[in-house]
Amino acid sequence: MKKLLKNALVIATMNSKKERIESGDILIENNLIKDVGKGLNATDADQIIDCSGKVILPGFINTHHHFYQTLTRVIPEVQNAKLFDWLTYLYEVWREVTPEAIYYSAKVAISELLLTGCTTTTDHLYLFPDKQDPHLIDYEIKAAKEMGIRFFPTRGSMSLGRSKGGLPPDDVVQSEEKIMQDVERLVNKYHDPSPFSMLRISLAPCSPFSITCDLLKDTVKYAREKGLRCHTHLAETKDEEEFCIEKFGMRPLAYMESLDWIGEDIWFAHSVYLNSDEIKHLSRIGTGVAHCPCSNLRLGSGIAPIPEMYNAGVKVGLAVDGSASNDSGDMLGEIRTALLIHRIKDGVDSTNADMMFDIATMGGAKVFGWEKSIGSIEPGKAADLAIFNFNRIDYAGCWFDPVAALVFAGISHKTDMTIVNGEILVKDGKIINLDEEDVIINANKLSREMFNRANKRKG
Ligand code: ZN
Repeated sequence: MKKLLKNALVIATMNSKKERIESGDILIENNLIKDVGKGLNATDADQIIDCSGKVILPGFINTHHHFYQTLTRVIPEVQNAKLFDWLTYLYEVWREVTPEAIYYSAKVAISELLLTGCTTTTDHLYLFPDKQDPHLIDYEIKAAKEMGIRFFPTRGSMSLGRSKGGLPPDDVVQSEEKIMQDVERLVNKYHDPSPFSMLRISLAPCSPFSITCDLLKDTVKYAREKGLRCHTHLAETKDEEEFCIEKFGMRPLAYMESLDWIGEDIWFAHSVYLNSDEIKHLSRIGTGVAHCPCSNLRLGSGIAPIPEMYNAGVKVGLAVDGSASNDSGDMLGEIRTALLIHRIKDGVDSTNADMMFDIATMGGAKVFGWEKSIGSIEPGKAADLAIFNFNRIDYAGCWFDPVAALVFAGISHKTDMTIVNGEILVKDGKIINLDEEDVIINANKLSREMFNRANKRKG
């Protein structure tokens, strides 16, 4: 099956030279990019797509998320709360999560991502209440398969409940044995390490304040035996830094290093509170960071030193983070926020559009160790593309730099077309093969039910 994308206004390849091709074409054969350039011809193409007036970028890569949180957004009680208070309140609602809630929340989250140009995403599901089906993660995998996004879910875990000094309630944490058994089941059932895999599994204990050090050690040991990657939250807030110093006598990164949680196969979400020495250290050892600017702003956590990390050669990817700490899974919007936020702290010349698109594409691919297959528009790579219509009122007068206009200007961050693995998933700004109304009705219904059950339980 061949598709020829013809005459794009500009293709931002995001290759190592950051080449842009004006009036460019892309030839797709099955799931791969066969050729990129000007005046390409394919008389045997099955489909020719006129891309005049369109800006084409590699599909964005989301490096941190919690899909289930789409059902607990904008709750008035925690709209203005800091992380620990926010978590303590929300755990009570999250305790009520069901398989159906996981499935529909994933559909909402994936829809938002696809509509705003994201073609590969991770998810971090760490919530497995005692009373629920222990295979909750399978329901989000089902949703991702149905929708066609390239998926890199992490099997999250929590083992340090309140009675042992952790933050989460005891009935949402699991024993180490149970967690490791489910990890084994998932890896055997789903993990596909092939280059253009649509589903890879990685492992993600939740955070230093919800996990025992034994589980952290065992998880990374197991992951290395199986060739998997590991992920967790780290250095997100000042409170976490104080927690680690008080409980372990170490800063968060030193604590993780003491448990062997350091190396090319690890990526941390947030990393707001890293000092310059720690940043240099991350760069040397190749550990990645998932930057979550909106979530950090929403919770008032702080501004991560991303320009410093980027310039020091740390692998940095971009992420929308969980929907209860962002309320929006707008991937292009996240790139815009990332562009702007650092200018307050580090000056107007600390970021630019190219740097932010690099972080959102190849940066994410490197964080995932997937840079040979995704992250740029080059022959031999996966046909994962975000295509934006530039002929819109909100881009009028931006012809000087249509690529940068996507982050500097615009009142909608929706793509015109999103292609994943050679398949058109979004067309004319709409997700194909999705009963949107059914998802909206069910998501709202399940959200209300979770909230009402939590209120009833709490009295
Ligand atoms: Zn998170």
